[in-house]
Amino acid sequence: MIPAEFAYYAPTSLAEALALLRQYGDDAKLLAGGHSLLPALKLRLTSVGHLIDIGRINNLAYIREDQGRVCLGARTTHSEVETSALLQQQCPLLAECASHIGDVQVRNRGTIGGSLAHADPAADYPAAILALEAEIQTVSANGKRSIKGGKFFVDMLTTALRPGEILTEVRVPTHAAHTGSAYLKVPQPASGFAVVGVAALVTLDAKGQCATVRVGITGAATKAFRAGDTESALTGRLPDDTILAQAAAQATNGIETSGDIFASAEYRAHLTRVYTKRALAKAVERAKTQP
Ligand code: FAD
Repeated sequence: MIPAEFAYYAPTSLAEALALLRQYGDDAKLLAGGHSLLPALKLRLTSVGHLIDIGRINNLAYIREDQGRVCLGARTTHSEVETSALLQQQCPLLAECASHIGDVQVRNRGTIGGSLAHADPAADYPAAILALEAEIQTVSANGKRSIKGGKFFVDMLTTALRPGEILTEVRVPTHAAHTGSAYLKVPQPASGFAVVGVAALVTLDAKGQCATVRVGITGAATKAFRAGDTESALTGRLPDDTILAQAAAQATNGIETSGDIFASAEYRAHLTRVYTKRALAKAVERAKTQP
């Protein structure tokens, strides 16, 4: 289908993009990789009078280390995240998560900023963003803002971004010593989106017990969430098979799982628990090999 008519802008600086957002308000949208927005425009699920393409703003695509964190510009593509040697070394969970997104074409065009701003409940990154306790940086006419990952995803397709705000950077802490992580997913067979996706991060202490456990889950509910009861059940314990199973069984505590034609709410809850155990087991195995 053909989208409704819109005016197209290609600013070359953040200041220019912010001025356009300010000028056109609710009738303007940012365009990044276009892999969520353009299908929605074409299907006329949404319409916009003014499309502001941030693809020509040079300083929005980078991956660099800064004071114990890896910082990613909003326009960094999924493919750049997946293949980044820095991320594979310092924060492999995010790179592994990116490798599960869609197909090569989607990964070559789609951006981390666009994916997070869109907040599809079945998107992959939110699970890793929560497990990593990442931070999201934004800029607007009112200045810069830092939003904790845990506060960013508000509801289905809804984030903490305010009108006129541009997501500029994602900051992920580098993995601590003796830390292992894993992202596992049940992909929807046609789109590749997550029916359920689980990001697990485990740090072991000198006795081999779990010092830190973080589990982020996507696809299972209207927004991504942390499996708090699972994390508490495992922290301070030796992660043997029985303990892992007991902890993973609590992954959906307090969560209303979603049901659709691909998976009923009950089946999604079951998948969530099964994949939480598998992701935790893999993270533990990897942690054992880390200096
Ligand atoms: P766009 O589509 O350009 O924008 C999306 C929204 O974010 C728009 O509302 C836009 O205004 C806003 N936006 C963009 N950038 C910013 C910014 N910097 N600041 C504020 N707002 C911004 N995703 C997955 O996670 N897993 C999958 O398996 C998966 N499979 C896919 C399969 C197909 C066939 C397709 C088409 C997409 C798939 N996606 C999947 C989605 C893909 O990852 C998109 O790239 C992503 O959701 C949106 O990123 P984008 O850069 O394309 O953003």
